[in-house]
Amino acid sequence: AKNLGRNRYEFFTQNLQSEIITQKRTADELLTAIEEQQFVTWYQPQFCANSMKLTGVEALVRWRHPHRGILAPDAFLGIAEDLNVTATLDQIVLETVLKDQMRWAAAGIDVPKVSVNVSSKRLKDEGLIETLKTLQITPGRISFELIESIFLDESEDGVTANLDRIKALGIDIEIDDFGTGHTSIVSLLKLRPKRLKIDRQLVMPILESRQELTLVRAIIDIAKSLGVETVAEGVETMQHAKVLRDMGCDLLQGYAFSRPLPYENFSTMAMAGFRQ
Ligand code: C2E
Ligand code: CA
Ligand code: CA
Repeated sequence: AKNLGRNRYEFFTQNLQSEIITQKRTADELLTAIEEQQFVTWYQPQFCANSMKLTGVEALVRWRHPHRGILAPDAFLGIAEDLNVTATLDQIVLETVLKDQMRWAAAGIDVPKVSVNVSSKRLKDEGLIETLKTLQITPGRISFELIESIFLDESEDGVTANLDRIKALGIDIEIDDFGTGHTSIVSLLKLRPKRLKIDRQLVMPILESRQELTLVRAIIDIAKSLGVETVAEGVETMQHAKVLRDMGCDLLQGYAFSRPLPYENFSTMAMAGFRQ
């Protein structure tokens, strides 16, 4: 038994070691990837729950790794954070989105708005507002998705002031992953976001669990009474879509409609009107 324990220990340290080596390699490669522009922006459509019309997209970053193929954010965002480059990544994504918006306009494809994810690092960046002012952002066509925890952070007043400046530039604010963190109605009242996104952890179980169903309904009702739009994420089936629509949810996003797609594939689908 003693031997087995020891083997297990060696197995564990070996795994840990190779994990550390992979992380270190990924970290080196990530910096090269920024220089060599290996990051791409994919788009996942959102639809009006009533009309089923395309209302916008969420921009989601992907790493086109030279050997490992397309990598989702889970594989590299943590490392990017350690390297202090998440704000850089967010800026790369935003610039790509602005270029893609021009391409859609030129091609006659109507994508009403694009939501981009903004890390708390970037939101606290002192140069953020100045950087945003240098970009060609059409008012009402870009929104920033911020996770709730940002609003509960230390420098709350600083964050609120920055949010007001962002709104003044015509950028809408959305609260991401609503319902999972320390959800605070007070932060909703204070920040007056344009939309809130109900987290997929709450949305996915609504057909089986009365508890989540009740919670999602309550969130939609509160948002409505405050004049805040709701977006459900992780809408995986049309049955989910129907239940959410009946509860008054405004916008729907999820695999029931489409996975995130590269620019070309998304544009083709958008041109065809996303008819299934
Ligand atoms: P998120 O903001 O919650 O984005 C939604 C995630 O849910 C996406 O994962 C999307 O592919 C996935 N998803 C969409 N519909 C469904 C569905 O019906 N079922 C299920 N199971 N999943 C669905 P993705 O693209 O892997 O992104 C993961 C996270 O990485 C995002 O979560 C966001 O927090 C972060 N992220 C993505 N792009 C960026 C970025 O440009 N900047 C920053 N700072 N973070 C980003
Ligand atoms: Ca998001
Ligand atoms: Ca989410």
